[in-house]
Amino acid sequence: MRTLCFQLPTGDTMAPNAPSRRTVLRGAAVTLTAAAATGTGTGAAARAGSSPAAVDHSGAQWLPASPANYRVARRPSSCPVDYVVIHVTHEHFDDTVAVYRNPDRRTSTHYVVRSADGHIGQCVREKDIARHAGDDDYDNRSIGLAHEGWVHDPAWFTEEMYAASAALTAAVCARYAIPLDRTHIRGHNEVPHSSHTDPGCNWDWDHYLELVRKA
Ligand SMILES: [Zn+2]
Repeated sequence: MRTLCFQLPTGDTMAPNAPSRRTVLRGAAVTLTAAAATGTGTGAAARAGSSPAAVDHSGAQWLPASPANYRVARRPSSCPVDYVVIHVTHEHFDDTVAVYRNPDRRTSTHYVVRSADGHIGQCVREKDIARHAGDDDYDNRSIGLAHEGWVHDPAWFTEEMYAASAALTAAVCARYAIPLDRTHIRGHNEVPHSSHTDPGCNWDWDHYLELVRKA
C-alpha cells in the first residue's frame, strides 16, 4: 500500500503549516519536560480528566473528549465493532487532546498515541462512537486510533509509537474478534469516499501488521 505519495499531505486537523524538524524536536523536548514535571505528560488536560477506572486499555490515560464530539452507545451489543481506523493527527499530542475537548470541533478518536514515547491517551470509551472516519457507517463500526505526527515526515513514526499502537490494536481486535488483516485494520484514507490521506505513504503498514500479530 505504498502508492499514495502523490496525494496531498492531508491529515485530520488541517494544520496550515507543518512544523520544521527543529520545531518537531523542540516539541518533543517540551512534551518530555512536561511529562517529567507532571508525571502525566498532558498538563491541564490530564488534571481535568484523569480517571484510571475509565479506560478500556491498560495503561492508557483518560483524557476525555467533549460529549459534543462523540455519541454515547452500547457497543458491541448496539452495533458490532468491525474495524480499527488508523489516523495521523497533523497536531501535537496535547493539541490533539485540546481539539477533542473543544465542543465546536465535532471530531474525536478513541485513542491518541504520542510519538516520542508511545504514551496512549483514551478520549472516548470504546462502547461509544467517536467522530473520526468521515463516514457514519465506519464511525458506528470502528475504533479510531490517532497518531501524533505529520504524514510527510516519517521521523514522527517512532518505534515506540508503532509498538504501543500495535499492542493497542491487537487488544482491540481481541476484544471484538476483529481479524488481524488490512481489510479490518485500515487507514483513514481507505475509508470509502474519504478525502483524507492519513496515515500516508510513510506509515509502514507491513511493519505495523507484523507488530500487531506478534503482540
Ligand atoms: Zn484521519
